[in-house]
Amino acid sequence: MAHQRDLDPDSDSDSDHDSAGSAPAYEVVVVGGGPAGLTTAIYATRLGHETAVFEKEGGRHAAVEHVHNLLGVSENVSGRELAAHAVAQLEHYGGDFFPDAVDAVTRLESGQGNEPRFRLEAGHATVDAERIVFATGFRDRGPDVPEIERFAGRGLHYCLHCDAYALGDGPVFVLGHAESAAHVAMTMCNFTAEVDLLLDGREPEWDEETDEQLRAHPVDRIETTVVSAYEDETERGGSDEPPRLGGLSFGDGTERDYLGGFAMYGSAYNADLAADLGCELTDDGAIAVDDRRETSVDGVYAVGDVTHGQNQTTIAIGDGAYAGLAVHKDLRRFPKSLEEIRAADGADENGGKAGEAENRDGSSRIEPSDPMVPAASPALRARMRRVRDLDVHPGLRGPSPGRE
Ligand SMILES: Cc1cc2nc3c(=O)[nH]c(=O)nc-3n(C[C@H](O)[C@H](O)[C@H](O)COP(=O)(O)OP(=O)(O)OC[C@H]3O[C@@H](n4cnc5c(N)ncnc54)[C@H](O)[C@@H]3O)c2cc1C
Repeated sequence: MAHQRDLDPDSDSDSDHDSAGSAPAYEVVVVGGGPAGLTTAIYATRLGHETAVFEKEGGRHAAVEHVHNLLGVSENVSGRELAAHAVAQLEHYGGDFFPDAVDAVTRLESGQGNEPRFRLEAGHATVDAERIVFATGFRDRGPDVPEIERFAGRGLHYCLHCDAYALGDGPVFVLGHAESAAHVAMTMCNFTAEVDLLLDGREPEWDEETDEQLRAHPVDRIETTVVSAYEDETERGGSDEPPRLGGLSFGDGTERDYLGGFAMYGSAYNADLAADLGCELTDDGAIAVDDRRETSVDGVYAVGDVTHGQNQTTIAIGDGAYAGLAVHKDLRRFPKSLEEIRAADGADENGGKAGEAENRDGSSRIEPSDPMVPAASPALRARMRRVRDLDVHPGLRGPSPGRE
């Protein structure tokens, strides 16, 4: 099908519609521009599909000061830098990126097969999509401690698998009163002998068995309130980086120095748009998906943190790859089955009008007279020719050990 690519992201959404009420159409629209969404979009674009990403500023990747556990990528790189490189790659290969929040997604009644099935309304544009991928992530609930959030990523952490290494062998805290806080406090005993579990004046919510287990671990339980966080004075003046957390002050007037710690107050999945479309959610509120990352609604996929809370950049990237491949297999025109080829041949012999087809609104459109033309749009194929002639491509590139 023909795709309109002249969408002006700054125009009013109403003016993006033509007189027949249609909106610019993409084969794939990804909602969310973190590692999961951008990976899906890069795969879909490089597999020949007209693809757009809509990204609302923020997300968990934007809170990552130092990316850990990402093969070959230095921890000097932040989540924002990583995303900026990925956006440059997406656009380089022919995908579109809109820094715009999607406010609503609706189903187009008549859309089926490889026709637009969904309409997305964002702050500054409205587009149609054959397939949608939700990559909207989740929001960590922060602690109720004045001053502490300014140390996010520099002493206040939310991801044990990312940051336990950086806190290894130092005094650490775990803030929270739920089962997950008890579990993380006990797990931190793998990394250091100094673990405090801070209840911040709340009643523990874990059961008796967990309580007994916790008391058998070398974890100090501190019940009083946490009233504020202070910065690490030892680093003052020695670094251009913003200050790190140095410790916490308590309601009983005491202070404790910490290298850092974790806040465990749960999370809220950004799953409202998917729920509005009828996608099933898990008991936790994540979007339920199958192995191909497709939701319970045909043509709607979901990837990354919004599907499981696994909480890792690499897993989000892997999800994006799965979904990119699945969407491609879902949309691609070739290989055609022998039945399709025979049916097309039969229609031609019977005088079928190969060059004309009917749109949803009853108007006609010209289909390629040769049904064997490549499925990827002419614009995307032109981009493929141009990109392969270039010597330099966007993306992170630093010195290679042993190769310079
Ligand atoms: C402080 C911190 C440090 C971390 N450190 C590491 C680390 O070192 N290594 C590691 O592997 N992992 C780390 N993680 C985890 C990692 O950041 C996440 O697992 C990863 O970002 C998940 O990617 P995602 O694309 O699924 O979601 P996100 O990164 O959260 O991206 C989702 C995006 O969707 C956007 N969005 C939501 N709703 C809409 C909408 N309606 N319209 C448009 N856009 C929308 C959001 O704004 C957001 O940008 C860390 C997390 C935190 C919070």
